[in-house]
Amino acid sequence: MNQPTVVITHHAVSNFNHTVEDVDQWHKARWPECKSELGYWVGYNYVIEADGKVTQTRKHTEEVAHTIGMNNKSIGVCFMGNFDTHQPTPNQISAWGKLYGDLRKQYPDIPTLPHRAYANKSCHGSLLANDFFQIAYQRITLIDRLNKLIALLTRLLTQRRMK
Ligand SMILES: [Zn+2]
Repeated sequence: MNQPTVVITHHAVSNFNHTVEDVDQWHKARWPECKSELGYWVGYNYVIEADGKVTQTRKHTEEVAHTIGMNNKSIGVCFMGNFDTHQPTPNQISAWGKLYGDLRKQYPDIPTLPHRAYANKSCHGSLLANDFFQIAYQRITLIDRLNKLIALLTRLLTQRRMK
């Protein structure tokens, strides 16, 4: 049983062309008995590929396998790539913004932290600050609100002109 209190972000330490199927093979080899209710061996709840494709691999209520000590109180999100050597893709960041926004609706104001907050490793990548994905989400939310405001103002101005 898993009761999420935090969203923990990881990088796969892989190439950008690796996919959720690769992670599934890697985890199946290590933990053959840990098949999820959704049919994956992936220990995370979500995988975000380089093109922004998001796959849910484990239900939120299932015990997860991604962060020692947190596997019954967290949601794990893994980005394909290696953020010790390069940045996430813009598609990964916008996919994250939507996913984290959805999770925050289900678990109001659930925080997000990198794997390294709980373990002596660089995960989610030494190039990214601890609050990288928190700030990315806030930026996306702000841009979204500004776009809605601009659309509203444009509509109001157009209506005035038509009178
Ligand atoms: Zn990790």
